[in-house]
Amino acid sequence: MRVIAIDGPAGSGKSTLAKRVAQALGFVYLDTGAMYRALALKAHRHQIDPDDEPSLSALAQSTQIEFVREGDEQKVLLDGEDVSQAIRTPLISDLASRISVHSRVRRAMVQMQKAIAQQVNGLVAEGRDTTTVVFPDALLKIFLTASPEERARRRWEQLQEQGIDQPYEAVLADILERDRRDTTRADSPLKQADDAIVVRNDGWTKEQTLEHVLMLCRERLGEG
Ligand code: C5P
Repeated sequence: MRVIAIDGPAGSGKSTLAKRVAQALGFVYLDTGAMYRALALKAHRHQIDPDDEPSLSALAQSTQIEFVREGDEQKVLLDGEDVSQAIRTPLISDLASRISVHSRVRRAMVQMQKAIAQQVNGLVAEGRDTTTVVFPDALLKIFLTASPEERARRRWEQLQEQGIDQPYEAVLADILERDRRDTTRADSPLKQADDAIVVRNDGWTKEQTLEHVLMLCRERLGEG
């Protein structure tokens, strides 16, 4: 099982990186956040309360989430239905974050993530607990990070590009709050695995980060 696991705080650019690393290596991109989002969407459709752990855990166990490639894109299928767009709304973001606090829900999702890894030739797994809980034996673990100020600046620029005018200080406060919540939650808090390689990308472009991480991957895969 060739697994590369990428973790790190909000705004470090780990999603973009994981997607591009997977593309470059011809591996499947395991977007664990998308899985929590897909389950949140199903729970919402079934009108299950996000605090109802037993019902959510039963739901998770009777749900199939898959990733399929279509040309350059990867789609998320929820029980066979393409939900790639439907899971990207603010409502689903909020619900995903709320259902992901339940240990029994997490256990079911971790099981699903491990099963997906068994079926493929190579995998780039991205998400909060991928280096610590889901794939502790990953071939390579990357902890991608940057200072809160740098991450806030990137997020601020993104918002500006989308025509959303928010003061930089507010964006920074939001990043600091998310860091606090992510590192202090009871189950699977954001934490650097002991054997992870820390990649601090302050001042780097996306391309520089990609090149650096691909070099680490190739070394580890014995292709360096
Ligand atoms: O990364 P993304 O924003 O798509 O994740 C959605 C939500 O799923 C996050 O807010 C987080 O609470 C949860 N999540 C998680 N563990 C993961 C991935 C995502 O708890 N491995």
